[in-house]
Amino acid sequence: DLNIPLENEMYEELTPLLKRIDEQNKQKDAIADMRKEFSANVSHELKTPLTSISGYAEIMKNGLVRPEDMKGFAERIYNEASRLITLVEDIIKLSKLDEGEIEMEKEDVDLYDLTRRIVSRLAPQAEKRAVHVEVTGENVICHGVRQILDEMIYNICENAIKYNRRGGSVSVWVGATLKGKKIIVTDTGIGIPEDQQERIFERFYRVDKSHSKETGGTGLGLSIVKHGAMLHNAQIHVESKVGKGTKMELTF
Ligand code: ADP
Repeated sequence: DLNIPLENEMYEELTPLLKRIDEQNKQKDAIADMRKEFSANVSHELKTPLTSISGYAEIMKNGLVRPEDMKGFAERIYNEASRLITLVEDIIKLSKLDEGEIEMEKEDVDLYDLTRRIVSRLAPQAEKRAVHVEVTGENVICHGVRQILDEMIYNICENAIKYNRRGGSVSVWVGATLKGKKIIVTDTGIGIPEDQQERIFERFYRVDKSHSKETGGTGLGLSIVKHGAMLHNAQIHVESKVGKGTKMELTF
C-alpha cells in the first residue's frame, strides 16, 4: 500500500509532462501539414500560369494565330508572366519572413509619412478603378523594420482599392490612441463574409477565386501582413460587411 501514494504522485507529475509532449507533437504535425499544403498550393499556383503560357506559345509557334490576333496572344502571355513574377516575389518574401532572414535592422519609422508615400505609389491603381483615396492623421513613430512595415501597409491599402467598387473610396487614418499606434484602412468595397474573415489571413486563401485574375492577387498578401504583424508585436483586426465595405486595423 505504501506504493499507492508514490504512484499517484508520479502520475500527477507525469500527466502534465505527457500532455505537453502530446501537444508538442500535435503542433509539429500541424506545422508539417501546413508545409505540405503550402508546397502543394505553390506547385498548383505556379503550374496554372505556366501551362497557359506554354499553351499560347505553342499555338503561336504552330502558326495558328491570325496576324491580327497576335497582339492579344502576346498580351495574355505577358499577363500570365507578370502574375508569375508577383507570385514568386511573394513566396520569397513569405519564406524569408518565416525564416527570419529579412534584414532585421529596426529603425524609427514614421508611419504617417510611410503611408502617404505608399498611397501615392498606389495612385495609378486607384485611378484605374476610379477609387478616391485619402490619408489623414498625424505623424507617429514606430520602431520597426521599414521594408516589412512598407509591405504590410501596401498590401492592406492595395486590397482596399482592389476590392472596391468603381467610384468607391478608401480612407486611411494614422495616429496614436490609448490602445497603441494605429493604421486604420476603411473601404467602401465588396466586403468579406463573416465566416471567411479569419481565413483571409491563410496562405493562398481568396474569398472569390474568380476575381483573382482580374485583380491580379496571389492570396499571399494578408499572410505577409500577419507574419509582419507578429514580428512587430502588432495586431491586425478586421471588420467587414458584405456589400458595404471593410475596415482593417493595424495596432502597434
Ligand atoms: P490577394 O492577393 O488575393 O489580394 P490577400 O491575401 O491580400 O490576397 O487577400 C486574401 C483575400 O481576402 C482576397 O483574395 C480577398 O478575397 C479578401 N480581401 C482582402 N482584403 C479585402 C478587402 N479590403 N475587401 C474585400 N475583400 C478583401
